[in-house]
Amino acid sequence: MTASYEPNNIFAKILRGEMPCHKVFEDEVALAFMDIMPRAEGHVLVIPKTPARGLLDMPPEALGPYMLRVQKIAAAVNRAMAADGLTIQQFNETAGGQVVFHLHFHILPRHDGVGLRPPGVMGDKAALEANAARIRAAL
Ligand code: AMP
Repeated sequence: MTASYEPNNIFAKILRGEMPCHKVFEDEVALAFMDIMPRAEGHVLVIPKTPARGLLDMPPEALGPYMLRVQKIAAAVNRAMAADGLTIQQFNETAGGQVVFHLHFHILPRHDGVGLRPPGVMGDKAALEANAARIRAAL
């Protein structure tokens, strides 16, 4: 059985405006912002406003509208970063690689011959904001 939703996880705090983020998009369904430890230039996270821990406990009726936002933001990231491709990742529970327990999709713009950076390295603040601005402009 999946554990319950923890309302003080870091993404819940970002949703409530208690923590800052480099915002890319927000509407009544989803929020998108730059991953602060980007594994590629332009690495974005898309989270639903619905308090779901992972994919399996997302209410089915909320999933469709959320996935439309994931697709819309992925297209903007693709354009803004002039990507050759996209890697889209979503992890569930510790065993599945999840670290923050609020559902999120990673959107990673990829360029031919360029590998992903190692995890856990903080991004440069100015570069994060510049990439956020590029992606906002492509939406
Ligand atoms: P995971 O749960 O494995 O998908 O990993 C959580 C992701 O959230 C990692 O890529 C982190 O770099 C990212 N992250 C953690 N804290 C923040 C934050 N405050 N703002 C933006 N991204 C974050």
